[in-house]
Amino acid sequence: MRTSKTTSSDPWSGVFHRITAAIGEDYTASVNRVAASTAATDPFRILISTIISLRTRDEVTFAASDRLFARADTPATMGTLDTAEIQRLVYPAGFYRNKARQISEICTILTARYAGVVPATREELTAFPGVGRKTANLVLGLGFGVPAICVDIHVHRIANRLGWTSTTTPEQSEYALMEIVPRMYWIPMNQWLVGFGQRVCTPRSPRCSACPFTAECPKRGVTTTR
Ligand code: SF4
Repeated sequence: MRTSKTTSSDPWSGVFHRITAAIGEDYTASVNRVAASTAATDPFRILISTIISLRTRDEVTFAASDRLFARADTPATMGTLDTAEIQRLVYPAGFYRNKARQISEICTILTARYAGVVPATREELTAFPGVGRKTANLVLGLGFGVPAICVDIHVHRIANRLGWTSTTTPEQSEYALMEIVPRMYWIPMNQWLVGFGQRVCTPRSPRCSACPFTAECPKRGVTTTR
């Protein structure tokens, strides 16, 4: 797909403008809501809510994060909860038992090795249980303002359908997108594409008839549309 019909020196601005217009102004991804819920950015909340968000709907993620942080909002206090209580607080998030165990272990490590402060490097973040590149990138971006593209399944799918990338894994998509998308969009583009993936370019039968890219999108891998 051509990135835009505009003559702007930054064609991606037109692309992302069309995406955000298609999503609507009312959309905010769950982890972005968590990030905005405290006066000062709290990387710990962003890390924990990102773990809760994996394979979980936005509303469930936000409510589960809210319950957990109302009970304990630092690694030291959360680390004193037993995993059964964390399970109860984050339920019905997907894989809540595994997530509760990971959250408990992360709090123990943060308290013992990092004095309760979330580290700001990808290497350190991905050493925590349950934290992959996708989660680390979201924490770097939203928690520390470090440009990083969080490529989840929505971003990977949409980038390939639109022809921005031709990749088979989210990690390949991340590297490919870093080559073509200006750094100024690396942090916000996850929220935009997740919203677009939930409301327009849905996993099954995307709403191509209501999509601003329908005339130019190669619709790679798409078999049925609405
Ligand atoms: S035209 Fe269809 S496949 Fe292409 S981005 Fe839009 S919704 Fe997705």
